[in-house]
Amino acid sequence: MKHISVIGGGIIGLMSAILLKNQQYEVTLIEQNEKLGGLLQSSIASDGLFFDYGTHIPRETGVKEIDTILFGSLNKNEWNMYDYLKVGNYFEGKLNIDSQFIDATHMNSDIFAKGFFDLLHTTPIEDSVNDADTYLEQYFGETFKREIFAPILEKLYGKKLCELHKNAPRLFGYTRIICGNQFLSSNIKKSAFFDDKLANTSNKIGISGLKSYYPKIAGIYKFVEELEILAIRTGVNIMKNKTIKSIELDGRMVKDIVLSDGLKLQCDHLIWTIPPSFLMNIIDVDYQGSIPQFKSVGLFNYEFDSPFLVDNHYIYCNDSSYKTFRITLYANLVAPVQSSPYTCTVEILGDFNEVQSISEESVIAELLRMNIISSKAKVLFNKRTIIKNGFPIMTNNHFDNAHEIEEIIHEKAKNISVVGKNSNKSFFMEESLRDAYEILKKEDLI
Ligand SMILES: Cc1cc2nc3c(=O)[nH]c(=O)nc-3n(C[C@H](O)[C@H](O)[C@H](O)COP(=O)(O)OP(=O)(O)OC[C@H]3O[C@@H](n4cnc5c(N)ncnc54)[C@H](O)[C@@H]3O)c2cc1C
Repeated sequence: MKHISVIGGGIIGLMSAILLKNQQYEVTLIEQNEKLGGLLQSSIASDGLFFDYGTHIPRETGVKEIDTILFGSLNKNEWNMYDYLKVGNYFEGKLNIDSQFIDATHMNSDIFAKGFFDLLHTTPIEDSVNDADTYLEQYFGETFKREIFAPILEKLYGKKLCELHKNAPRLFGYTRIICGNQFLSSNIKKSAFFDDKLANTSNKIGISGLKSYYPKIAGIYKFVEELEILAIRTGVNIMKNKTIKSIELDGRMVKDIVLSDGLKLQCDHLIWTIPPSFLMNIIDVDYQGSIPQFKSVGLFNYEFDSPFLVDNHYIYCNDSSYKTFRITLYANLVAPVQSSPYTCTVEILGDFNEVQSISEESVIAELLRMNIISSKAKVLFNKRTIIKNGFPIMTNNHFDNAHEIEEIIHEKAKNISVVGKNSNKSFFMEESLRDAYEILKKEDLI
């Protein structure tokens, strides 16, 4: 029987381990921490008061094997199941509670008219385009690129558009824009070319059929607890508080791995979900290229004494003069009707010191100006956590670096698969899960 080791017990490691165990391999999952889940964590402030690491609301992937593992054994009485999420966004001084997409009609009417004209005159994007500046100009037109996306992306990435990869806008969901009411949108969207660029005016329209899940009485750590139970039941050998110390190679194949406590494990295939820089170190790869860069994420957690003024699950802030990137409103997620405790997390991206220096008063003032809390709302609890290396800075060479590193590792050892967010080929859960599944399939492991 083949022995497979999975390094890292985040969602990708957990899902991969269960998937592989279902194929009758001997699977060992190695996690350095006491707890599994990686970024799918909730900090528990007190009984009933929890805060996740930002917006983590798992959604079905559409791949049956993955969805059965992740959602198949959830007790429907304990989980909310959403056909669509109530996502809102703040732009040009207006809070749009119905859509995550920017409504360009909120702009100065001359700029909007020019922008819409430009958009309607766009043509297919040239194959050679690699940077976000040219990409956005060809995709949305010069005016919307300059007036809307350049300032927001500069706020989020701290880089000029010309320094960013063409996929950089996509990371924050800037794929579509609202340019009129639903009647106008529906008519223009009849053209496949413009359907890609124009958004419907409400989250409720054009839903994908893929469901999202969130627990009724706890934070997202509950999802990890359920997966851990499933992994144990399936027969995955879980080792916590351990890491990998060295790898023994036989030619270009990993033969054994040695753990931090000296334990040696036979290994016919290694699934690597943690940063590849660590792997390159222990297999003696001399990599001189550049390493992907990240922004820190400040998680500003609050409990208020009164309800939020909106029923959104989460809200993006698309105002470049605000520090806020996104707000997750747990009080709206756990129950169909908002209920106490009135808790939320405000995510702010920046350099570590920059995020650390932001005052609580300024974050609360932004919530107030966005009309998310009332002027009478009082803070009952607040705590900030900063995640270093949170969001990737998708520079021009971000993906080239990731692929170069993957190839170098493959040259050294053929039976290592680098998957998950830390591979830097994907970032969000759904995409990372699907990518990992495809890689395991390509390796003939499933
Ligand atoms: C602030 C923030 C907000 C986000 N919002 C969203 C969102 O809205 N939607 C979405 O889909 N995704 C979101 N993401 C991304 C999402 O968190 C990731 O896609 C997902 O958690 C990646 O899981 P993973 O298993 O690849 O990596 P990780 O979660 O990083 O897990 C890696 C695991 O490996 C362990 N590990 C590390 N080093 C070692 C070692 N040496 N030995 C053993 N174990 C080790 C870690 O402890 C961890 O448990 C967000 C991420 C951040 C930071």
